[in-house]
Amino acid sequence: MSKFWKPGTEKPRFVEDEEGGVLFYTSASSSSSGHGYASVERQRQRLPVFKYRTAILYLVETHATTIVVGETGSGKTTQIPQFLKEAGWADSGRMIACTQPRRLAVQSVASRVGEEMGVKLGEEVGYTIRFEDITDAELTRIKFLTDGVLLREMMDDPLLSKYSVIMVDEAHERSLSTDILLGLLKKIQRRRPELRLIISSATIEAKSMAAFFNSSRRLQGRDAEGHGPRKEPAILSVEGRGFNVQTSYVEDPVSDYIRAAVSTILSIHDKEPMGDILVFLTGKDDIDAAMQLLAEDSHHKNQGLIVLPLYSGLPRADQDLVFSPTPRGKRKVIISTNIAETSLTLEGVVYVVDCGFSKQRFYNPITDIENLVVAPISRASARQRAGRAGRVRPGKCYRLYTEEYYVNEMSSDGVPEIQRSNLVSCVIQLKSLGIDNILGFDWPASPSPEALIRALEVLYSLGVIDDDAKLTSPTGFQIAEIPLDPMVSKMILASNDLGCSEEVITIAAVLSLQSIWYSGRGSEKELDEAKLRFAAAEGDHVTFLNVYRGYVESNKSSSWCHRNHINYHAMKKVDDVRKQLRRIAQRLGIALKSCDHDMQAVRKAVTAGFFSNACRVEAFSHNGAYKTIRGSQEVYIHPSSVLFRVNPKWVIYHSIVSTERQYMRNVITIEPSWLPEAAPHFYHRQQLDPRLHS
Ligand code: ADP
Ligand code: MG
Repeated sequence: MSKFWKPGTEKPRFVEDEEGGVLFYTSASSSSSGHGYASVERQRQRLPVFKYRTAILYLVETHATTIVVGETGSGKTTQIPQFLKEAGWADSGRMIACTQPRRLAVQSVASRVGEEMGVKLGEEVGYTIRFEDITDAELTRIKFLTDGVLLREMMDDPLLSKYSVIMVDEAHERSLSTDILLGLLKKIQRRRPELRLIISSATIEAKSMAAFFNSSRRLQGRDAEGHGPRKEPAILSVEGRGFNVQTSYVEDPVSDYIRAAVSTILSIHDKEPMGDILVFLTGKDDIDAAMQLLAEDSHHKNQGLIVLPLYSGLPRADQDLVFSPTPRGKRKVIISTNIAETSLTLEGVVYVVDCGFSKQRFYNPITDIENLVVAPISRASARQRAGRAGRVRPGKCYRLYTEEYYVNEMSSDGVPEIQRSNLVSCVIQLKSLGIDNILGFDWPASPSPEALIRALEVLYSLGVIDDDAKLTSPTGFQIAEIPLDPMVSKMILASNDLGCSEEVITIAAVLSLQSIWYSGRGSEKELDEAKLRFAAAEGDHVTFLNVYRGYVESNKSSSWCHRNHINYHAMKKVDDVRKQLRRIAQRLGIALKSCDHDMQAVRKAVTAGFFSNACRVEAFSHNGAYKTIRGSQEVYIHPSSVLFRVNPKWVIYHSIVSTERQYMRNVITIEPSWLPEAAPHFYHRQQLDPRLHS
């Protein structure tokens, strides 16, 4: 067993700061854990966080909440859970939890920690993300999970009693689930004084987080006899060893950041010494486009380049390539979404190319549209991205925007996701945990009252809450129990009466993935042809059913998937999610029934969940414009939909993505008369009737 600070032994040195928190400047050295993995152990000891081992353990012992701030790559995520375990926090059946906002990060850090500890993933170290539980009820001591999954666990175990320490990681990202979790953990702490929280992040405003955990308890301190941890949060700052990063800007704004990124990559490769390049783009489409441009580059400048994508949903084998060492004489180019901004550390990066944008959620309660929008990042993000270049030696960052723009136009910090999200899921989650006064909930950042009211209205129309805004029984409780968006859950519940639960569960499983199509470089035409083979006049949802049927008829063959431009891994995932959803449906008393070819039942079930996303084609539009029924927003069918250019009169969309227009992704045809049937409160007949006859 290794050492950590215990009363009576030599204390680490610390100073009290003016807030009453404890700020460490130096720490005593500590011993290692003595596994037989010498080189791994040496690597661990070289991480900046290692010097703070004793300090961290001392603070966690003596404080209810410890806030750890440290640069990305300093070892917070991978080391702190191990320190805690070595110090005994996972003894006698207890567990250590570490949350991440992103699923890919959960998988990646869990497998790294498993490797470092020399254990098989899923035993002592495990992870849980939605629909994928790689843990063992008996064996797992350190568990990585998304903050959303931890919120779900509260439904069965409201005090999270199996955990001795919960580390909320990447708190600076202020994801919706992180903020809800922080609010709830603050409540749990009052009931479980023995629980320890660690809030960790790259660039968090530690003081405001400390103030949040300190408020309304300042006078309490320790209990009367001086037992128990101190209630004031401690702040620990891990000093990294970042190298200087030289930043350059473009002189004039670029019109196409993908092309600009590609030419920057090629010019770095041409002129700069060896070292990997990390490129920040916004999403898979951008990344594919950039990879295609690099592949087309005919000047052979890119010899010696290994180009790798990095985005969530990437298959495991491709993830591993990103982390494998760069072969001698080669240069890796990792083209990533903002997942590489803080969640993942990539060794060997010396050059960063920053396009200045990321995909962000935006919700407008007036139009009731939640968008994924490519939007400018904040200066805090830009600095964080630049910092990724200085991990191993002095690096360079190429910003694809002007200095004038950075200084004068970029906002200094991002807006917490809770202030730009649709709150339907959030509200139902809190309600199911018995928190009824949602406006009065102690949020780290308050959501807008308009968005809350809007969410309550949708939930009321879905039959999830009653006139007193309480969860209805059984519908409300059932919908809360299904680990999906409440609208998808409602669609599954409705399929029971309509006799099409098998079909609707398949659709829900497909919609839980980003895409089931395989979009290889330069094969757009073949993909479109493949889609035509499955295309259904009713729309994308029914098309998914055709694909799944074909997959089953092929005996789930990978070559069949390959021939039809279908992503085999995605289909295996669909099957897996389907199995889990069928189990949940059975538990809820939903009869598993197929409607065979009665697609009207399926369309009605979709309407029961997604009535609020109904649209009608504009009468005299030549360009396929639609208007949302509630909100009258102009939207278009996405080119990837089988209904693109078909433009049926009445449709319901699954989600909206915005580029130059607001595009509906995954669209199904409906009859307008189903809307007031599905949601009489939401659609008054008067609102629909004049349009019915136009
Ligand atoms: P932090 O949480 O402070 O950003 P991490 O604990 O994630 O830091 O990373 C610490 C170090 O562990 C990194 O510098 C990197 O070298 C290594 N590391 C983390 N994840 C992986 C991985 N999946 N594969 C290889 N090395 C990794
Ligand atoms: Mg981390």
